[in-house]
Amino acid sequence: NHTTVLGQIAFENVTFTYDDTNITALKNVSFTVNKGETLAILGRTGSGKSTILSLISRLYDVEEGRITVDGEEIEAINLYDLRNSIGFVPQDAFLFSDSIKNNIKFGKEDADDDEVITVAKKAVVHNNIIGFNKQYETILGERGITLSGGQKQRVSIARAMIKDAPILLLDDCLSAVDTETEEAILNNLLEFCKDKTTIIVSHRVSSAKNADKILIIEDGEILQQGTHNQL
Ligand code: ATP
Repeated sequence: NHTTVLGQIAFENVTFTYDDTNITALKNVSFTVNKGETLAILGRTGSGKSTILSLISRLYDVEEGRITVDGEEIEAINLYDLRNSIGFVPQDAFLFSDSIKNNIKFGKEDADDDEVITVAKKAVVHNNIIGFNKQYETILGERGITLSGGQKQRVSIARAMIKDAPILLLDDCLSAVDTETEEAILNNLLEFCKDKTTIIVSHRVSSAKNADKILIIEDGEILQQGTHNQL
């Protein structure tokens, strides 16, 4: 009895406090992202951006206000189906001590080599990979090579892309790439995310250039929301 998540996400007056620190990370936050739209969330460090993504992945439950996905209370959706519908690129990419290929395929175990190469190109990391002696078979981590912060981020983006889920959450995942590479990835994402609901969190305004909506958050509160032209 599985639900198919299409991808409309709405926050209605969400206030959220972390139990352990007693920090109220979100205060009365409301916004809607429709299926297929891209929302950029901009704000300084500690403003609550990652918390929004954690709540969408249901790492925590909300007690004040509500979150809906496709109009349904998030708590009512099967957790497996919800998480299966989300491609998540965390702030700090977690890569295994395994080949680059397997690290990308973690997003889709049965992917073939062509699919791996396609997403690596879209994430603008293919050229780095083919520069290594063992290319896609290059082992990462303790037993292998260390990627740069920006290369790790791009492998992590490729991993989320191969999953091809209806919702894509990107948590400041372009922070370690130069502006030219950022631009190239954003252009590829534009095409890739056409039918997906995408939330891109960043502290850099440049990441919001293709967004349908922008939300500016400070100290857990929405300061402004609107389109690029409105803000
Ligand atoms: P950054 O850009 O640095 O990632 P952010 O805008 O994503 O920041 P959050 O990570 O959402 O901000 O943090 C919002 C507030 O909640 C901060 O004050 C932070 O210390 C606190 N916080 C974040 N995660 C946790 C956690 N797991 N437990 C307790 N408090 C947390």
